Amino acid sequence: AVTTRTPFIAGNWKMNLDHLQSIAFVQKLAWTLKDANHDFGAVEVAVFPPFTDLRSVQTLISADKLELGYGGQDLSAHDSGAYTGEISGAFLSALECGYVLIGHSERRTMHAETDEVVAAKVTAALRHGLVPVICVGETAEDLEQHGPSAVPVAQLRAALENAGANPDIVVAYEPVWAIGSGQAATAEQAQQVAAALRAELAERDAELGARTRILYGGSVKAGNIAGFMAQPDVDGALVGGASLDIPEFSSIVRYQK
Ligand code: PGA
Repeated sequence: AVTTRTPFIAGNWKMNLDHLQSIAFVQKLAWTLKDANHDFGAVEVAVFPPFTDLRSVQTLISADKLELGYGGQDLSAHDSGAYTGEISGAFLSALECGYVLIGHSERRTMHAETDEVVAAKVTAALRHGLVPVICVGETAEDLEQHGPSAVPVAQLRAALENAGANPDIVVAYEPVWAIGSGQAATAEQAQQVAAALRAELAERDAELGARTRILYGGSVKAGNIAGFMAQPDVDGALVGGASLDIPEFSSIVRYQK
């Protein structure tokens, strides 16, 4: 990938690790990354814990000055009010989150998040100074019917509907068929879609296309990360299952070595 874009490795914990477990985990992860003989620092790392962990993670990271980013796995499109069970971007911002995942396929399918909802959440994140990590990706059926790039590109365009010309975002391309399946896309497949997503961004604003980091996600492991990172338009990875295994996740972060 272009050297001006800092590689970004993100761990999506999903519904794993409670707040006590998160403290032990982050401590050990930060240690492992720091101890390892490599230029961690050339790679940005962030974790996406459950909401109930965020305060603990914030306290630990700020007290120990750990070089680790973090964010929520979702947020509300609304800022406050009668939305039982929802979490405002203002609250994430108050916990010094840098990022928030938006439109993960598990939210799109299990919580009926439409492109319109995703777009509203993207503007909510931007309103609160959070960098949205916008997740897009096609199902196996979409792939068969529309080819590799059509659905992810349409999802990205819809997500940015009200986001202005040059928003500060990260895009995660996650083919639904590759998530948690053990069957990752090939590096070439990831590159093809990442290039199409970048072209969509560039059409909106040349600078947006040039600087926005595009991640690949879906069964990323230590054994396949290097192939993805070697692609010119892939700038990092969104890692689910493997982000819960510290040695494995550390090896992913150290993909250069
Ligand atoms: P996986 O999940 O790495 O377990 O496939 C990726 C994701 O859902 O973000």
